[in-house]
Amino acid sequence: MLLFFILGLFVHFVFFGSIFDIYFTSPLVHGMTPQFTPLPPPAKRLVLFVADGLRADTLYELDENGNSRAPFIRNIIMHEGSWGLSHTRVPTESRPGHVALIAGFYEDVSAVAKGWKENPVEFDSLINESKYTWSWGSPDILTMFAKGAYGDHVFTYTYDADSEDFGAHDVTKLDTWVFDKVKEFFHAARNNQSLFSKLNEEKIVFFLHLLGIDTNGHAHRPSSREYKDNIKLVDAGMKEMVSILEHFYGNDGKTAFIFTSDHGMTDWGSHGAGHPSETLTPFVTWGAGIKYPQKVSAQKFDDAFLKEWRLESWKRQDIHQADIAPLMASLIGVPFPLNSVGILPVDYLNNTDLFKAESMFTNAIQILEQFKVKMTQKKEVTLPFLFIPFKFQVIQDFVTLLLTVPPSYFVGYLLVFILGIEILVLSFFYRYMLTAGLLAFAGWPFITQLWTRAKSISLSWIFFSLLLAAFPLMPVVGRKPDIFLVMGAGLLVLLLSLCVLTSLIKRKDSFINEELLLHLFQMLSVVLSMCVTYSTHSSLRKKQGLPLLNQIISWLILAFSLVLPLLSPTSLFERLFSILLSLMSTYILLSTGYEALFPLVLSCLMFVWIQVEQETLQQRGISCKQKVTSVRFTCSTDITQFRQLYLDDVRRAFFLVFFLVTAFFGTGNIASVNSFDLASVYCFLTVFSPFMMGALMMWKILIPFVLVMCAFEAVQLTTQLSSKSLFLMVLVISDIMALHFFFLVKDYGSWLDIGTSISHYVIVMSMTIVLVFLNGLAHLLTTKKLRLCGKPKSHLI
Ligand SMILES: [Zn+2]
Ligand SMILES: [Zn+2]
Repeated sequence: MLLFFILGLFVHFVFFGSIFDIYFTSPLVHGMTPQFTPLPPPAKRLVLFVADGLRADTLYELDENGNSRAPFIRNIIMHEGSWGLSHTRVPTESRPGHVALIAGFYEDVSAVAKGWKENPVEFDSLINESKYTWSWGSPDILTMFAKGAYGDHVFTYTYDADSEDFGAHDVTKLDTWVFDKVKEFFHAARNNQSLFSKLNEEKIVFFLHLLGIDTNGHAHRPSSREYKDNIKLVDAGMKEMVSILEHFYGNDGKTAFIFTSDHGMTDWGSHGAGHPSETLTPFVTWGAGIKYPQKVSAQKFDDAFLKEWRLESWKRQDIHQADIAPLMASLIGVPFPLNSVGILPVDYLNNTDLFKAESMFTNAIQILEQFKVKMTQKKEVTLPFLFIPFKFQVIQDFVTLLLTVPPSYFVGYLLVFILGIEILVLSFFYRYMLTAGLLAFAGWPFITQLWTRAKSISLSWIFFSLLLAAFPLMPVVGRKPDIFLVMGAGLLVLLLSLCVLTSLIKRKDSFINEELLLHLFQMLSVVLSMCVTYSTHSSLRKKQGLPLLNQIISWLILAFSLVLPLLSPTSLFERLFSILLSLMSTYILLSTGYEALFPLVLSCLMFVWIQVEQETLQQRGISCKQKVTSVRFTCSTDITQFRQLYLDDVRRAFFLVFFLVTAFFGTGNIASVNSFDLASVYCFLTVFSPFMMGALMMWKILIPFVLVMCAFEAVQLTTQLSSKSLFLMVLVISDIMALHFFFLVKDYGSWLDIGTSISHYVIVMSMTIVLVFLNGLAHLLTTKKLRLCGKPKSHLI
């Protein structure tokens, strides 16, 4: 329990700390190579209108008289360009919105520490990639992009911050100021040779930031006359701007236009959160390189906007805010902003398929660049052995595995799988659910070919499953001490080992003396532990205390129990039996009642399990032989070459988890562990020593686990299952269980209820870690070979 808890705590600290590493550090990287499409772009220049704080519905809807508030924009939608909704993300604030629009990535969360006022790291943007950009509007927004831009190719024209007074008489002058300045600008350009030549360059951007609507919305709410009238004003202003520009460039058809807003606004005049009124903004684009309006008969959208706005017959194409940046870049042929994660919305493009394909390819390369840089950086700051790139080799296996299974089988399997997991989850609360699970296990050979192929194995499987099923029905350990049951368990072990001994002698002509000796020695230790347990308990009953000799023998048995199996031959059966004998002699010393029988029955079932799994694999091997010629591979004993995953492996992983849960809850539950039945450790010490007692109790709990894991080691070996894919499957199973317990964590009721619910969660969460530890221990116990006389022996199992 203590180990579970420490491991669980550790994992949770790591998880907790990871939040900061994952969420609150800047995701931006630097050092990518700029990527652009090697084809001539459709536009020479781009005009970007951003109506700050304009929500989509107020723009698109018709007023009470059935007229549009923005006749110019509506005319564009119907006759000139493409339109849709731009979906923005939280926080719906001006800065993050503009960053998504112009730089193509969603807000750098580490900016939360700076109150979203300033981006803590520099980033690349469309404006920086342009040849020249002229921008007009609020100083808050424009300086942000001018600051990040390298070289003096970004020109900003801003009013002073004091003009943004919410109480000012008429805030539409924030917009008229911009329109007036642009008018003056183009007028002046006719008499300014250097400006005129700059304006005739390619890859240039005009950015008009219009703050009036946002300011009016905050002051008067979006339903107000002021907000709506401001939209009219912006619409008329844009009409004038477009005509001035077209006139200036002699209608050369090389200008692309984009109209959108950074975020919307709630009915009560705020923004920042994720309500649709805040996240849905208009997006209208037209001009060079943009598709003309497409008439459609029916459009499928979850909302009823099209009908409300009477725009059903004009194709609506929604867009993610960050995708606008690559769209603008491709229109004027500049590299995609380096930090952009936007995906080029090709459906908006009026261009050749070649151009679209090239642009998409460039877009993919540009995003990949960031991953590569990030990976290199991560590699540099991570210790080499901790840097393991995620492999797709396991997941692919799993997917191909799923594809090979017919759907009806798949659904059936899924149902069984879900039912199995539910039984496991319920067994944490009701031990008898394990009995139900084991009864199902007993019935399992009948639904497979096992029953017809191997009757004796099936029968023993059924017998031991049923026997083990009795344990979860018994009372919690320690409630009813019965020393005779412990003795009975010892006698059964001795009987079993005698059978094994005779069969071994019979089978082997030249039975090596050393191994015979070892076996006898282990049997002797079982006898000794029986005697010690008996005499200790009777002496304690007579209140004579723990005899010193008993104590010494107990500790010696415990110490030898970990070494003796390592001396035994590594052939599968002998090694496993040796482990069982050693662990049983310790377990008997730690037992007070029926639980002494538990590891014995469990191991018997495990022995049968190994044979069952071999049988199922052979069945598959035979069926494989008829189909493909890969039998040698599946039957190969080369453990470095693991085979492909089968659906049976999912079942094997499930069996493992089930047996592990049974090993833990089979003889008691958490309550009994918490209550610390001290009678269990009387053979080792009688003075109160919490640490020693805790360690001994821990070992007692772990012994059934070790037995299961050793058996599974053998299963893994005989079925050539890779432990990596196994862990993935166990991880999935335990995570599904963890999710259950996560929702079952209680924050009310008694302390015991709350504590138990939390420890359930912790147990499942740490299951995989414990599994790694146990797997290591089992691997050591089963494969390590100590030599006493230095005689060379085979290491193969
Ligand atoms: Zn804004
Ligand atoms: Zn605002």
